[in-house]
Parts: sequence; C-alpha cells; structure tokens
Amino acid sequence: MSAPSTSSGIQLITNIGELTTNVGPSTGSGIHPEDRGGTIPDAAVLIEDGRIAWVGPSTSAGTHSRPADEVMDAGGRAVIPGFVDSHSHLVFGGDRAAEFEARMAGQKYAAGGIRSTVAATRAATDDELRARLRGFLDEMLAQGTTTVEIKSGYGLDVATEERLVRLAAEVTDEVTFLGAHVVPAEYADRADDYVDLVIGEMLDACAPHAKWIDVFCETGAFTVPQSRRVLEAGIARGLMPRVHASQLGPGEGVQLAVELGAASVDHGTYLTDDDVAALAASDTVLTLLPGVEFSTRQPYPDARRLIDAGVTVALACDTNPGSSFTSSMPFCIAVAVREMGMTTAEAVWAATAGGAAALRRDDVGVIAPGKRADLVLLDAPTRVHLAYRPGVPLVAGVWKDGVRR
Ligand SMILES: [Zn+2]
Repeated sequence: MSAPSTSSGIQLITNIGELTTNVGPSTGSGIHPEDRGGTIPDAAVLIEDGRIAWVGPSTSAGTHSRPADEVMDAGGRAVIPGFVDSHSHLVFGGDRAAEFEARMAGQKYAAGGIRSTVAATRAATDDELRARLRGFLDEMLAQGTTTVEIKSGYGLDVATEERLVRLAAEVTDEVTFLGAHVVPAEYADRADDYVDLVIGEMLDACAPHAKWIDVFCETGAFTVPQSRRVLEAGIARGLMPRVHASQLGPGEGVQLAVELGAASVDHGTYLTDDDVAALAASDTVLTLLPGVEFSTRQPYPDARRLIDAGVTVALACDTNPGSSFTSSMPFCIAVAVREMGMTTAEAVWAATAGGAAALRRDDVGVIAPGKRADLVLLDAPTRVHLAYRPGVPLVAGVWKDGVRR
C-alpha cells in the first residue's frame, strides 16, 4: 500500500453490529485455534494517531477518551480487520488470458508458463510496471486489503529482479526476493548454474530491497537441494524464508520449510500426513491460495484437516497473471468456505490474523488497543455474508493506518 499517512484526529466508530477483533477471551493472542475469530456485538472502536485506542461496547464508548473529532455511526453493520494478503506477485508485464482460456478448454497447468510473463516483464519500463502495480494496490484496497506482501520472480536476471524488488519496496515493507521462481529459458538444462546466479550476484542486488527469500520448490521448478541452497543463502544475508511447495504434487518442500523455520509455506495442495504433523508441531504457517485451484482446475486442499490437526492456516490471493489473477480476499474467503471446509469465522481469521502470522507481524490482523487502525466496514450485519453473498461487493469502507480511504 502507499506510504502510511496517519490521521492525528480521534475517530469513533459506533453502532458496529458485529466487530471481529480476532482476540479471544482465553489467551488474547488471537493465534490459537480456540480463539479464532473472536467478536463483540454492538461494539465501538476508537482510533487515535493511526492506531486502535479502545475497543468495547457501543454504550460505553463515550467514557473512554476525550471527545472524538469525528464520529461515525456504522448503522449496525459489521467491521473486520483489514485483510492481510501475504502472497502476491504484482510486478509484471502482460497477461495470460489466452493460456487461461486454453486451460478452461482442457489444457493442463504447468509451471513453465511463467516464462511468457518473464519476457513481457523484461520488456516493460519501470513506469509501466509501477503504474500496473499501483492499479492492483488500489483494486485490493477497495476490496479491503490493507497489508500486502509482494514477490519478485518475473525478471530472472540480475537487472530485472533488482527492478522488481525495488519497485515493490516503493509500496510495501513486505518484499520477497523470488529469483528462484523458475529456471529461465537461457539456463535450460543448467539449473544449478542459475541457482549460483540467484544466490550470488542476484541476491547481492536484491537483498537490500527485500525482507524475505522465497523459492518455488516443485517438479518443473527447483529441487529440494537447490531450494535449500537458495533459502540458506538468503538467511545468511538476513532475509527470512518462505516457500512455495506442494502445489502440483507431493514433495519435500514442506519439510524443508519447517526445518529452516520458514514463516510460511504456501500452496500445500498436496500434503502428506507427515507434512501436516510437521506443520502442526512448528511455527510455520500454511498459506492456502484458493484462487490457484480455482484458476487451474486443481482439487482444493482440505483446510478442515489442517485446522483440526492444529496447523495455523492463512488465506491469500496469490495474485499473478498465470495461476490466480484475482486480487479479491472476499472471493478467496467464499471459495475457502465452500470448497475447503472452513467456517466463515475461520476463513476471515485466516485472511486477517492468519496472514499476519504468515508475515510474522503482530501489529495487523487484530482489532485491539495499540494495533494499527486497519479496518473494513462491511455492507452486511455479519462477516458470514462474505461467503453467503459471494461475488457481491460488500466492502463499504476501508481504514488504513486510521485514514479512511
Ligand atoms: Zn506464488
């Protein structure tokens, strides 16, 4: 999102029919299964200096601070935390509508389609990429997303990868260097040489702009030993690991992610029982990306199995031109509820507090005193409508750092 511009005034939102705080009564941490999706009925929220100052029942709102400069009556509608979209690829040129259409006509998805976006991205100017990126962020904000992680990965050469992380860093703190997205055409049959480039000159150029290191650990992309080299090189440079794994079939990427203490392993469409057990015993979040299964006609992963096993689950859009060109968290919530066995409360938690956990952030994804005032007002009495009324634009207002956008 654009640079935070905080409001110094005091704002009070009253008469919130259902406030999703994501803070439960037992531990208050908001990241344990028993706490998922805590709510307060007939609530009010006080915002001061871009942060949440107070949360409680509407009836006692006036007693907790000096008078608000601005009061808004939510009219009984629901408020939830701003969505935290922890997985996106927003810096690229071109699109792949023809590939999507061919796939819907029966062609199978494979990782290699990424290379056509690489050609279009290398050919685009910084200003073209920047304009596209800002367009996506506006589109996401309008749908309630207030925190976005952005990956590189459509450059696959030193100069272009550096451009992509630099452009991403203009708009978010959550920048991921994904030079190891696929092996580019010019390194066909020389994947190890490409890994040398990624962990050498490319990492040198990109690390100053990035917070995270990522790798696509999958048949057709990078092997487990190659993925380990990439992640360990990034960690040695102070980047934190996250991994794309088990999207197209089972593999050892999840185990590698857990072993290296990754904040998140993303996709997880094909998980073994050992993968699930390893995730449940770890701090690694499993980020599900329902838009991918939707757009590639893959079977949906079973979120119920993961949650029941004690895995922390996040939901993200994976906005990218090949396998998931939606930027809508409400759409992903609706699909996760309908197709992956989540309740709406769990899906909203996964799209807010879950995304925050996947980014190791404790200042977003929760509505509680001291947290960032990132809020979404729904044109509905309850968050259930996000899945109950799929495809309907229910986001009636968005606050980012306390400023209504
Ligand atoms: Zn991705």
